[in-house]
Amino acid sequence: MENFAAALRASVTTLAELRAYLQERGIDPDRPELYLDVQPHVLPVRIPRYYLDLIDWQDPDDPLRRQVLPTPDEHAILPDDLTDPIGDRAHQPVPGIVHRYPDRALLLLTSACVVHCRFCFRREFIGKPALTLRPDQYEEALHYLADHSEIWEVILSGGDPLVFRDVYLRRVFEQLRAIPHIRVIRIHTRTPAILPGRLTTAFAELARTYAPVYLVIHVNHPREVTDTFTRQVGIVVDRGVPVLSQTVLLRGVNDDAATLATLFRKLVEARIKPYYLHQLDRAPGTNHFRVPIREGQQLLRQLRGHVSGLCLPTYVLDIPGGHGKVPLTPEYVHPSGDDFYEVVNYRGERFAYQEPNV
Ligand SMILES: *Cc1c(COP(=O)(O)O)cnc(C)c1O
Repeated sequence: MENFAAALRASVTTLAELRAYLQERGIDPDRPELYLDVQPHVLPVRIPRYYLDLIDWQDPDDPLRRQVLPTPDEHAILPDDLTDPIGDRAHQPVPGIVHRYPDRALLLLTSACVVHCRFCFRREFIGKPALTLRPDQYEEALHYLADHSEIWEVILSGGDPLVFRDVYLRRVFEQLRAIPHIRVIRIHTRTPAILPGRLTTAFAELARTYAPVYLVIHVNHPREVTDTFTRQVGIVVDRGVPVLSQTVLLRGVNDDAATLATLFRKLVEARIKPYYLHQLDRAPGTNHFRVPIREGQQLLRQLRGHVSGLCLPTYVLDIPGGHGKVPLTPEYVHPSGDDFYEVVNYRGERFAYQEPNV
């Protein structure tokens, strides 16, 4: 954990630091395709060293670099971009709580994150210290959760809940567990893919102590699934903590079937179940990452049946305005009259299926 705090502090956040890093690595920082002179739109730059080291600086289209370094495309704002793309604000009864679905609520403890992804949908909120929950707001959020007995699950999101030290997380887990109707704690985090050292034995023991604690890790590219990542995730899985993943479908990062297949297989090999593949939200300055739904569905068709079902996440859209997530699964079943269906298999072959009369 001390190493993690040091690694976090050593993140690159300024142009001068980035130039120094590149010079250390023997890379000319004045290469124009690095776009080092581009001012980020809204969201400042933040990249830990571990992740910088994964980047192939010789490849002008490196998919890891694309996720973390601003490019001029970030300044292309469309009139129908949304500053609150998934309608968090519409469902915020008190600061730090987003309660959109009946049985589960988000608890956003902080706007701090270990990395500032250039496609972030909470970009208006991330990295702003003033938006970390104050102690009185935290108490109010806990009261809200305690007062709503329909809340079965609390999802810690952000920002990234794993920026906190274990002693703080222990207190949060303990206080959530003290509320009898809260049966499940879920953590949404990008940290393990960015600084895998955060997944220590101590953290794994903590998650086990307050089980069921589910970990959902945000991973977008097979090269983020390093040996170190797999080893550190293993520490958590070995202690019975269920681990799932979520991936954002991103142009120029993972928008081809081979990359997605490799990613999902590597995740399953690391004992992580791919949970969601997200359609990109409509945050300003992220349109260069957009893959149209039709194309996303085509990619899923290319995967279904060809790779193990364990590897397949649900492709989802978060409806703008806070109306929830809906699956974008391609259609395999077409009703064709009473009890009759036309079904399509993974090879595209069509079959008539008659439902047995019961
Ligand atoms: C995504 C999300 C959830 C979790 O949805 P699941 O489908 O249960 O993973 C809960 N609340 C909000 C506000 C969300 O955006």
